[in-house]
Amino acid sequence: MFDLLKSKHPFLMKTNIILTFAAAITLAIVPTIAQSATDAKPSSTAPAAQKYTCPMHPEVISDKPGKCPKCGMNLVVLKAQPTPKG
Ligand SMILES: [Zn+2]
Repeated sequence: MFDLLKSKHPFLMKTNIILTFAAAITLAIVPTIAQSATDAKPSSTAPAAQKYTCPMHPEVISDKPGKCPKCGMNLVVLKAQPTPKG
C-alpha cells in the first residue's frame, strides 16, 4: 500500500523537466534567429528615396542634404506627405 506514495516516477518527472527545458530553449532561440535575420540586412546605406527640401521653398527639392539655392537655409528631410482628401 505504501507504493501509492511513490506514484511519482522519477523518469516521468525528468521527462517533464526536459520538455519544459526544450520549450524554453525553443522560445529563446526563435526570436534570436528572427532578430539575426533582420540584422543581416545592410542598414548603413541611407534609403535612396530620401529627398530634401527647403522649409521656405517647397519647390526646391534635392536628393542630398545641403542649402537652399534661393535663401541659403539648410534643407530638411522631405517626408512623404499623405495625399489630402476632400
Ligand atoms: Zn529656401
